[in-house]
Amino acid sequence: MKRPNILFIMSDDHAAHGMSCYGSVINQTPNIDRIADEGMLLENCFCVNSICAPSRATILTGKHGHLNGIKTLDDRFDGRQQTFPKLLQRAGYQTAIVGKWHLGEGGHSSPTGFDYWNVLPGQGDYDNPVMINNGEERQYQGYVTDIITDLCLDWLKERDPEKPFLLLCHHKAPHRPWIPSSTHASLYEDVDIPLPETFNDDYANRSRAAAEARMRIECDFNYLDLKLEPPAGASLWDSIVAPEDLSGFSLRPQDSQEAVTFRSHQELKEWMYQRYIKDYLRCIASIDDNVGRMLDFLDEEGLAQDTIVIYTSDQGFFLGDHGWYDKRFMYEESLRMPFVVRYPREIEGGSRHGAMALNVDFAETFLDYGGLDIPEDMQGASLRPIFQGDTPDGWRTSMYYRYWMHLAHHYVAAHYGMRTERYKLIYYYGEALGTAGSIDEPKQPEWELFDLQEDPLEMNNIYHDPHYAELVEELKQELYRLKEEALDFE
Ligand code: CA
Repeated sequence: MKRPNILFIMSDDHAAHGMSCYGSVINQTPNIDRIADEGMLLENCFCVNSICAPSRATILTGKHGHLNGIKTLDDRFDGRQQTFPKLLQRAGYQTAIVGKWHLGEGGHSSPTGFDYWNVLPGQGDYDNPVMINNGEERQYQGYVTDIITDLCLDWLKERDPEKPFLLLCHHKAPHRPWIPSSTHASLYEDVDIPLPETFNDDYANRSRAAAEARMRIECDFNYLDLKLEPPAGASLWDSIVAPEDLSGFSLRPQDSQEAVTFRSHQELKEWMYQRYIKDYLRCIASIDDNVGRMLDFLDEEGLAQDTIVIYTSDQGFFLGDHGWYDKRFMYEESLRMPFVVRYPREIEGGSRHGAMALNVDFAETFLDYGGLDIPEDMQGASLRPIFQGDTPDGWRTSMYYRYWMHLAHHYVAAHYGMRTERYKLIYYYGEALGTAGSIDEPKQPEWELFDLQEDPLEMNNIYHDPHYAELVEELKQELYRLKEEALDFE
């Protein structure tokens, strides 16, 4: 059988609950939904470490961060190692990556295994971005999401139609600082976006780690995030610190002459949420448009039948949930990856699957479709049978997670944990363990246990409830089994 083309579209920080096919109540994503309508939506796809570079390295290698060398944002990716694009390239695929690479923070690391690569340096810019085209820097005029799509389409038009292709289209959006295109700048201007149910979470009966995290809507944004004029002496990157007493405290949007004053902290928090979430959703509107352009191109070229199209994101994100933005925690909003896939030759339209899928499975899946054997040192499994609507015997019913970057950036403590279909056990071990970028500030270790059936919003830590003592022991045994299986001995 002819080997399928693979178009893998991945955005940065797009949470599943910001997609209408996942039931979003805050936005519509008609083009992404089209992939789900004509293919399959995975209901339980999770990342094994909810942060950019580690998720990207795991996707490329089919391995957890401690084996591919990317445990934190500050590690350097060794491009000499085995990746799925390299293996497909060697097997005759034409390979390309366009957009966000973000595996060079710990030292320069160019993409390997691609015939064509054109990537943003570091985080890249939203407007008129510089990109590195096979080693050469060039500035492009326009909006980053449109440019990445244009470059993908250009490459597709020039490819050899006799050979199958692998194209990784990696969007920068909707990553912080959430700068929308001019096309969508006034979307949602006259509406209030509904608040999430846990918006006013007070972190009672939870870990100290949750209470201490610095990603709160009311006080942890900076002026650039919300496009506000910084007060004298502050920079755009300075955090907004809301004072106890709001009298005399005001904020001025960069596009306005009028400052806004607040009567209560709740009012301030809700105002900041609207500033944040509207820009976030505007960035997603551009992505959705551009996903539509890619799908249209496949239709026009007669490629839709023979091309696997995936839309996903490197991890989830807090959209005001628990009063937060950002990710890192093993909580559902951050752990869950959106994942929709279309391949008319094998996947039934409008189907959904609840099997537990992980980003560590993606490489294996692509190799399977490319007709290659899956190397034994890869740690996941091909999702192809899942896509076909089956659940293979012995498919995983629990998964292992680890966030290594102790207290860096948003003061989120390092932790590892496991999730079953019903329960989630998290251990904040309280140490940096010498990992790159971590802050060497020991914390008292602590545990959390959630019953996702009774408490899907994870508001009630039942770890200390004696009623669950036996369950805790069982889950701990499973956690240690998973940790060992993942070859994580730290
Ligand atoms: Ca990300």
